[in-house]
Amino acid sequence: MKTVVLASSNRGKLAELRTLFGTLDLDVVAQAEHGVGDADETGLTFVENALIKARHAARETGLPALGDDSGLCVDALGGAPGLYSARYAGTHGNDAANNARLVAELRDVPDDRRSAYFYCCLVLLRHAEDPSPMIAEARWYGRVLQAPRGDGGFGYDPLFLPDGYAVSAAELEAGEKNRLSHRGQAASALRDVLQRELQRWHGTP
Ligand code: IMP
Repeated sequence: MKTVVLASSNRGKLAELRTLFGTLDLDVVAQAEHGVGDADETGLTFVENALIKARHAARETGLPALGDDSGLCVDALGGAPGLYSARYAGTHGNDAANNARLVAELRDVPDDRRSAYFYCCLVLLRHAEDPSPMIAEARWYGRVLQAPRGDGGFGYDPLFLPDGYAVSAAELEAGEKNRLSHRGQAASALRDVLQRELQRWHGTP
């Protein structure tokens, strides 16, 4: 079985990605299990940051690496928090503070102007110098609620009302979120490419 290292320390993402890639003939291990810390996210786009993270993990471990860069883009805020979703309130990974800031920023914005989408870019590098990474991306559209609802998922899920749903992303059952979400859709696209690639990795035509 081929091992792939997940270039993330975000526990919510790790749980989702492990499930999403669980059906493949792959052993998916978190970078922390190899003693790898977070890379500096210096890119100006999600795809650049996903590549930076995956390259860092591949270089440190010598293994193929899966990188995810994702975030919430709110139209009324010109796309913020966007690339900076994890550090919106300053402290990396503090979901409660990030959510509180988002509620405050949108306090005076009416329901019909609270549209937003989650974005996810997933990349798979076969090795640190891989010149042709496999890349998939997806968006999940909805709007930002006035107050958090539900305790499932992670990050901004309690504030995100997906289009066509009466419950927040944090109130969705985990399997349902994975089916609908930006990460679920990107993973499904990447899985298709990866499925073919895995046969090459295993030396079969
Ligand atoms: P990254 O680790 O720099 O990609 O940060 C991603 C950040 O975007 C997370 O810390 C969350 O705040 C937010 N985010 C990404 N995907 C999701 C999701 O599926 N639900 C809720 N928040 C998410």
